[in-house]
Amino acid sequence: MYRSHTCGDLRVAHNNQEVILSGWVQGIRDKGFMIYVDLRDRYGITQLYFDEESTPKDIITKAQKLGREFVVQVKGKVVERASKNPNIPTGDIEVLVTELTVLNNAQVPPFTIEDKTDGGEDIRMKYRYLDIRRNPVKNNLIFRHKVAMEVRKFLSDGGFIEVETPYLIKSTPEGARDFVVPSRMNEGQFYALPQSPQTFKQLLMVGGMDKYFQIVKCFRDEDLRADRQPEFTQIDCEMAFVEQEDILNVFENLTKHLLKEINGVEIENFPRMTYDDAMRKYGNDKPDIRFGMEFGELNEVAQHKEFGVFNDAELVVGIAVPGAASYTRKELDALVNWVKRPQVGAKGMVYAKCNEDGSFKSTVDKFYDQDDIANWAKITGSKPGDLICVLSGDANKTRAQLSALRMELAERLNLRNPKEFAPLWVIDFPLLELDEETGHYHAMHHPFTSPKPGQLELLDTDPGAVKANAYDLVLNGNEIGGGSIRIHDKEMQATMFKHLGFTPEEAKAQFGFLMDAFQYGAPPHGGLAFGLDRLVSILGGQETIRDFIAFPKNNSGRDVMIDAPAFIDDDQLKELSLKLNIQE
Ligand code: ASP
Repeated sequence: MYRSHTCGDLRVAHNNQEVILSGWVQGIRDKGFMIYVDLRDRYGITQLYFDEESTPKDIITKAQKLGREFVVQVKGKVVERASKNPNIPTGDIEVLVTELTVLNNAQVPPFTIEDKTDGGEDIRMKYRYLDIRRNPVKNNLIFRHKVAMEVRKFLSDGGFIEVETPYLIKSTPEGARDFVVPSRMNEGQFYALPQSPQTFKQLLMVGGMDKYFQIVKCFRDEDLRADRQPEFTQIDCEMAFVEQEDILNVFENLTKHLLKEINGVEIENFPRMTYDDAMRKYGNDKPDIRFGMEFGELNEVAQHKEFGVFNDAELVVGIAVPGAASYTRKELDALVNWVKRPQVGAKGMVYAKCNEDGSFKSTVDKFYDQDDIANWAKITGSKPGDLICVLSGDANKTRAQLSALRMELAERLNLRNPKEFAPLWVIDFPLLELDEETGHYHAMHHPFTSPKPGQLELLDTDPGAVKANAYDLVLNGNEIGGGSIRIHDKEMQATMFKHLGFTPEEAKAQFGFLMDAFQYGAPPHGGLAFGLDRLVSILGGQETIRDFIAFPKNNSGRDVMIDAPAFIDDDQLKELSLKLNIQE
């Protein structure tokens, strides 16, 4: 037997008991007549001691040779401590060692295995298995497990069946590039790794599995943005014989269940906001509604004077920044420069201070009088002490710029409290999105999403205006998940492909299997997928998903621990009928 207890188990109630523990040496303190060793495992730390008087000499000698991270097994007796350590659960006891077995030696680790380590990100990624021994990483993995178990429990109790779908498939259109896998047995042919199980879960609906879910890996070969992983995990779901309302209800309840079970937070408000409203009020389809600062559109009260910048703008829009009337000139200049950075892209910013005495002082006092600014204050909801920030220009661009400013200021003003949770649904997304570069429309969600009833006709005349039965779940300014009611009719699916620029032949080659299936009694169906990594990191009150993934990739998509991706042998290439064409 390697252990009778874990290193987190023992309490005063175990006093005098003989125990066996196994674990890693966290630290050694050799006081000459007494040696203390902190023994660590997943469950905690227990203090061991070796005492010159009662511990046999050979064991003392062995103990003196222990190093950090050695793996050892000890037998000993639990003793109540004279001076207790209130900082750890096992702090009331220690174990007087009578037998010591070194199970394995260890080299000195490249960074300290402590909550506050001296190791930088890169070195910890390279030795991720050592990083996992540290509480912050270990606890995040345990936390992730808890969330995944709650998801499984909730969905399984709700009648959902977890079904595995294949990883070696054909392209699925989620808008990214596919990772491909060469087939040795089929010369020159490739599998694609799924960007999501989208088509398979729809086929499961045709197969009658009317409530499906899967906690599943998805793969997208995208240009890496900060905190994106080329492989990530989805909670993927699909239901048959449902309308949008049914799906929203189930997953609203799942979200509430998780927030209650994991965070102890009861959610009363679960608003629904149309995409158009989200864009108008927050300039963003994933608004953070933990704080106000809603947009106020000022065209009517700002385009009647001689101020050309506003008069020429498609949209003049402002927000109230709470308490910011006290900003110094220097701070305000810095803010103006912030919105002019290329990443934000505003040409400039007009602002007005709402003084405590009810008067206003703006950068455009030459054009606007106190009554004008009072109107801006009213529309943006500004109170005395606030600052009104106003941007103008092309409507979409200006909204995006003001949204960036809103988020930045909220961050600076500490309005984004990670312990507070404000979920909402954003609904009625546009069906199509115009690709500015190519001038073509493509599916905003994916090509299987159904338009809202009665809107099909608009496809020919005003494609950008067609709304879809598509929805996103947003939590604290992050898109946690999204889905849609699907097309389940072959003809309508063919029409959709046509509008997306597929020839009938292309549509048949890529998605013939799905359209064929629709001929054999496809039920009305819909679903969604939540991103598990992001969900877990938000519930865990942290920003980076990497911290909740056991073996993540770095920002360049590399696994620096196993050193992947890597070149393969010529023999392997030959076997796969591949030829590399790299110029040396
Ligand atoms: N397959 C979709 C996605 O990965 C989710 C869905 O529509 O159910 O975003």
